[in-house]
Amino acid sequence: MVTFIVLIVAVAIVAFVFYWSGRYGGRAKPGTSLRRGPRSHTTARGRPKVGYDRREDAEARARVLSKRDGAPMSVYQCADCAKWHVGHS
Ligand SMILES: [Zn+2]
Repeated sequence: MVTFIVLIVAVAIVAFVFYWSGRYGGRAKPGTSLRRGPRSHTTARGRPKVGYDRREDAEARARVLSKRDGAPMSVYQCADCAKWHVGHS
């Protein structure tokens, strides 16, 4: 009987944690990048993006990524670090 009660409590705790993290954004969800804005210093995973000192370098990288992924990429100057980043346009 005690085992049964412990099991119920454990399930309740797990369910609560899932509910809590889902409600308060503990996990990354699709669409996070839209909320961050397209001109962010960080990636969708929250890591800092590669920054280029020169616009030409970022544009060269954007062309490579566009060709590789088949998706148009654009460059933008970052407001946080003043370098150039490559992002989905
Ligand atoms: Zn930046």
